[in-house]
Amino acid sequence: MTRTEPSSIADNRRAVLERIATAARAAGRETDDIALVAVSKQQPQEKIDAMLAAGQRVFGENRVQEAAGRWVDGRREGVELRLIGPLQSNKAREAVALFDVIETVDREKLAAVLAEEMARSGRAVRLYVQVNTGEEVQKAGIAPGEADGFIAACRERYGLTVEGLMCIPPETEPAGLHFALLRQIAARNGVAKLSMGMSGDYETAVRFGATSVRVGTALFGAR
Ligand SMILES: *Cc1c(COP(=O)(O)O)cnc(C)c1O
Repeated sequence: MTRTEPSSIADNRRAVLERIATAARAAGRETDDIALVAVSKQQPQEKIDAMLAAGQRVFGENRVQEAAGRWVDGRREGVELRLIGPLQSNKAREAVALFDVIETVDREKLAAVLAEEMARSGRAVRLYVQVNTGEEVQKAGIAPGEADGFIAACRERYGLTVEGLMCIPPETEPAGLHFALLRQIAARNGVAKLSMGMSGDYETAVRFGATSVRVGTALFGAR
């Protein structure tokens, strides 16, 4: 039988959720403690609508502009939107208005502007600090050695609640090392949530304690 596009999107989602559940069980964890974030960046609208129809309600986008164009009107309703790409300070106002969660807080200037925007707008966006666990020059995120100080500054200087930490491991290294490092930084700073794991390594991330996984291609196909 040939599958139509929408049913294959629903099938993909079911398969990913099943693998998350299996990995959670193997790690002695509750499946409900792990959120699937469907990364919809650069995907065609019909696939995103099929994902919505399949019941998916949490989505990740990496660009403010692209997300603002896509998540309009009825589509935005009941959806939790997460920003998982780098944020420029001059887009902070728009990001605070659009997103429920911003996962890429990584410098004091941005923390300050976000605090200011949330106070101004009265919108409480949930914040994650991105940690550049592999210390890669091309990647955003605070260096692991500066993470404790930065988290403290977010809390004390800017009055922010740090809900979680996020990382994107280097492609050339075992992801588990980076997931373990992120978990360690979270534990010693009393941070509850861990956003880690993508299409290639989300089951590993679940084993290492991920509370949300960001999955794009395994759900939607190639971008
Ligand atoms: C694109 C992206 C993902 C999803 O990657 P896939 O390999 O397609 O699952 C996850 N996290 C971030 C930060 C991304 O930019």
